[in-house]
Amino acid sequence: MTDTTAQQFNFKAETKQLLHILIHSLYKDREVFLRELLSNASDAINRLRFEMLTNQNVLDPEAELRIHIKVDKDARTITIQDTGIGMDQDEIVDHLGTIAQSGARRFLEAARESGQDASQMIGQFGVGFYSVFMVAEWVRVTSRSFRPDAQAVTWYATGDDSYEVSPAEMTERGTRIEIKLKEDAAEFADDFRIKNIVSKHSDYIGFPIYVGDEEKPVNKQTSLWRTARNEITEEQYKDFYRQTTLDFEDPLMHIHMVTDAPVQLYALLYFPAKAERNMFSLRKDDGLKLYSRNILIDEYNKDLLPEYLRFVQGVVDSEDLPLNVSRETVQSSGLMPKLKKVLTNQVVRELENLAKKDTEKYAAFWSEFGVYLKQGIAASPADTDTITPLLRFKTNTNPETWSSLDDYVSRMKDGQKVIYYIVGEDFRSVLRSPHLDAFKANGTEVLLLTEPMDSFMLMGLNKYKDYELKSVSGAEVDGAEQPKAESEAEKIPEGDFNSLIEKFKEVLGERVTDVRASNRLVTSVARLVDADENSNPELQRVYKYLGKEYEVPKKVLELNPSHEMLKNLLNTEGELQNIVIEQVYDSALLVEGLHPDPSSMAERVQRIMEAALSKAR
Ligand code: ADP
Ligand code: MG
Repeated sequence: MTDTTAQQFNFKAETKQLLHILIHSLYKDREVFLRELLSNASDAINRLRFEMLTNQNVLDPEAELRIHIKVDKDARTITIQDTGIGMDQDEIVDHLGTIAQSGARRFLEAARESGQDASQMIGQFGVGFYSVFMVAEWVRVTSRSFRPDAQAVTWYATGDDSYEVSPAEMTERGTRIEIKLKEDAAEFADDFRIKNIVSKHSDYIGFPIYVGDEEKPVNKQTSLWRTARNEITEEQYKDFYRQTTLDFEDPLMHIHMVTDAPVQLYALLYFPAKAERNMFSLRKDDGLKLYSRNILIDEYNKDLLPEYLRFVQGVVDSEDLPLNVSRETVQSSGLMPKLKKVLTNQVVRELENLAKKDTEKYAAFWSEFGVYLKQGIAASPADTDTITPLLRFKTNTNPETWSSLDDYVSRMKDGQKVIYYIVGEDFRSVLRSPHLDAFKANGTEVLLLTEPMDSFMLMGLNKYKDYELKSVSGAEVDGAEQPKAESEAEKIPEGDFNSLIEKFKEVLGERVTDVRASNRLVTSVARLVDADENSNPELQRVYKYLGKEYEVPKKVLELNPSHEMLKNLLNTEGELQNIVIEQVYDSALLVEGLHPDPSSMAERVQRIMEAALSKAR
């Protein structure tokens, strides 16, 4: 189709690449092209409707908001026409000449990286408008913008490197897409087939989709969130999720709510199975879709849920939002905080229920999203009370299962008034920590906090109900409750022990604030404790994680006066005594997860081994 006034444009490099892949793809489910085109048509109508909230000066203001599909079997063509916002010449060049979809871009990256046949992934990426070239010999898009004075325009491409744009005759507002099907795609030139595809992929598009001459729309149209719960199947809930996110995993769960007071709202919320958006995801950002009476106001609204629930996906629709609301004023409308409160409460309640009813599923949730909740405590202490019942922990006495703080409290020893925790790098190293010696000995439960986020969380969490949270590494954990080590081994005589302490102080110098005997160690030689109860050990760790300038915090080194090794150390002289003292300190740093340079120990450890072996000979 050449027109004398036609202008030729070249596709951008990455568009060419995408087209090349699509044209040669062996993708089985090519029918998704229709889903993409209908989704674009629906977007265009939505945008028109949004425009009309504030501007009546549009072309054809009375035209029905609808999509029409016409099939010509003999000519092997499909025509899709909408009464949406339309495009003028600049827009059509802009929008159809370059890749808009971030899904498409990621698809290209994946195709490049995997180097293999990427076509199996097309359906999941949602490659947008260009997916039509999987089935099209050529495509002609004719469009007339809603602006009354705009000229109609035609865009024509065969999937080659260039496309043509020329003026067109079109009197009505909207966009018409004509597709000449490839020979091997003739199957799509069929009313019945088209209707099936529409029902399968696009049933809930909010505008009527007519096929052929039929007067009844093929799609249900009502948005799923406004449909009564008992009329929706589990499969439909999942479908909707997949359509809006293109996540190929089923969601962990959904929440479908309808309320009238204190605000009217419909909401359909989903918990994804994975925290990380997969690379194909349609959702480019956090946030919920906000509709006002079925009109999309905001694609990524972040004011409907607190930060710590930002992984929740879905739709919120409220009759109470004023209709002339704009994307900007919606933020300042007093309704938003109300919606947020209702939604947050509901989400939290559902999570609590889930935890009660299905611990396995909750564990799956926790593994993926626990870190968000912990962050919530760190970032907004005001929400601590809401979030803490949702927290789960591994503990020294229950390392395999997840325990809530209530579980912990219910298992407390008689008279225990404190919730103990230990912070470290990983489960293995904290379970080995000398701080646990005494707790292990008398079976007191200790929360194991091993994620970087735990240190941040602790900055906002120092109490649960009546119980204070305390680190087992504190020097002066309340004496009365602190389990003491009942050591059977004989202690080093005080005089000898004091001279050993002096030796330690001499060797370690400024690096420790003090060296002293401990009554809390059983099997361990030494431990590091905080010098000052008010110092904030978590903050030091936070600095380390943030990669800020980090100095090994000065601590008190506590020694186990009954330990065999220290008895032997007492009888060791000279250089070997010094390097063992150094190593005792370094090992203590290591188990605390505070050692700045562990490999620096290798040389010393070797010397200690040499000494040990030469003795053994
Ligand atoms: P996306 O829908 O993610 O933006 P697409 O590749 O599907 O990406 O579409 C590219 C762009 O082309 C759209 O953003 C839109 O601006 C424009 N477009 C596509 N189809 C239509 C249509 N039927 N009416 C108006 N504009 C459209
Ligand atoms: Mg699209």
